[in-house]
Amino acid sequence: MHELTIVLNIFEIAGNQLKEHQGNKIDAIELEIGLLAGIEMEAFHFAWNAALPGSVLEDCSLKINPVEAEARCRHCHLEYDVSSLYDACPGCGSFRSELIRGKDLRIQSLVIS
Ligand SMILES: [Zn+2]
Repeated sequence: MHELTIVLNIFEIAGNQLKEHQGNKIDAIELEIGLLAGIEMEAFHFAWNAALPGSVLEDCSLKINPVEAEARCRHCHLEYDVSSLYDACPGCGSFRSELIRGKDLRIQSLVIS
């Protein structure tokens, strides 16, 4: 389950931020998760709740903002919304596209007190 690895990575980054800002605790965390980031949300929440007790994020509120996926056609350079990696370009029908949005997970904000 790679969601657990991702979650632990987020906890580590949050812990480092807390230290860096010499805060007491983290009140809120906001994440951006691309719809094509390959993250199974159910598994993500399961991993999150499993890692939570005794962690730096124990009392913090979690907000997740899904990011729609967008691709750019390598052939006609059209940018379009995609729901899977295998959508053809609506402009020219080409399958040669690159994802420009929606494939990443990032920490959007951390509220430290
Ligand atoms: Zn195209």
